[in-house]
Amino acid sequence: MSALTHLECSFCGKKYEADELHTLCPACGKPLLARYDLKRVREEWSREDLAVRVASLWRYQEVLPVRNEENAISLGEGYTPLLRAEHLGKKLKMRNLFIKDEGLNPTGSFKARGLCMAISRAKELGVSEVVIPSAGNAAGAMAAYAAKAGMKAHVFMPQDVPLPFRLECEAYGAQVTLVPGLITDCGQQARQAAAKHDWFNVSTLKEPYRLEGKKTMGYELAEAFDWQLPDVIIYPTGGGTGLIGMWKAFAEMEALGWIGKDRPRMVVVQAQGCAPIPRAFEAREEFATPWENAATVAAGLRVPVAVGDFLILRAVRESNGTALAVSDDALVAAQKRMASREGIFACPEGGATLAALETLLAKGWLMPDETVVLFNTGSGLKYT
Ligand SMILES: *Cc1c(COP(=O)(O)O)cnc(C)c1O
Repeated sequence: MSALTHLECSFCGKKYEADELHTLCPACGKPLLARYDLKRVREEWSREDLAVRVASLWRYQEVLPVRNEENAISLGEGYTPLLRAEHLGKKLKMRNLFIKDEGLNPTGSFKARGLCMAISRAKELGVSEVVIPSAGNAAGAMAAYAAKAGMKAHVFMPQDVPLPFRLECEAYGAQVTLVPGLITDCGQQARQAAAKHDWFNVSTLKEPYRLEGKKTMGYELAEAFDWQLPDVIIYPTGGGTGLIGMWKAFAEMEALGWIGKDRPRMVVVQAQGCAPIPRAFEAREEFATPWENAATVAAGLRVPVAVGDFLILRAVRESNGTALAVSDDALVAAQKRMASREGIFACPEGGATLAALETLLAKGWLMPDETVVLFNTGSGLKYT
């Protein structure tokens, strides 16, 4: 049973009723976060109870927003393997290098976590038609969950999206519109269409529940490491939903008494052709300025403006983490190494985390004896 109590603005702190549809904070235009009665959860639920729970992200249902089990639309998302990268680790003289393989989620990426939650909650609140702007993976995930929920789905994708992403959406029955330009242009069209037709827009962080789905990666990591979080998490960052979500999950778990105060250093990786967050991090800015002419093969990282930029930057700074950009050549080469050495056919975004790890080791920012988790956020198959 969900312990959801209300929504709270991540910027101005204003509170809102949870059981009505919301997008951004009406007062300041920033993302809303779901809040729970963690005191009650702490009294009624312990981490030992997880042993008998379902092997999907729904094992954490008390801290998820869906109230009625009938509305939980599931395709078996989450609870992905945390694999020890032995061969890559040996090469880098690291004993504790891990890859969280999100490519094994339904629809082949961790977008399934977020969209599963957004669609379930939208269904619970009476939505029948949804729209999304997406560089690829989010659209496929939304279309799949919308199909299972019996909702109509509309997708706005950049014209140059790899063909498999489009075919997948069409197979799930979504109406696909190809947009000349970037994800930001798709976002604008999705917004207009949503207003015109009264569709619910599930653009990331503009509705509060995709974050709740993605935060379960933080719960899973803690559980897999027996409640001792790793030293460093390297995360390929676009909109930053997963990173912000994990940071939120750590705070929740501390409130539940499941973990202590220690946190991993959070590392943002972007591509050199679109690196607004590393640029803002270095300039010590609270918000990132939009990146001009964004270009990278790692489509999930081609996000020139993120609504949650200040939340990403906050988590990186509070954790003593860092933000860096790697070249497309480096991330593609690393993607191949992950496949040939570890048997994981990663997406290019996943490859970027390995390229970043190598850079950080060379700079001495990270020591080989530290425990490091790389996030492979999706399967490489759709990019072929
Ligand atoms: C969307 C996406 C990302 C970026 O995820 P965020 O949590 O929005 O930063 C990274 N990799 C892949 C494969 C993606 O689809």
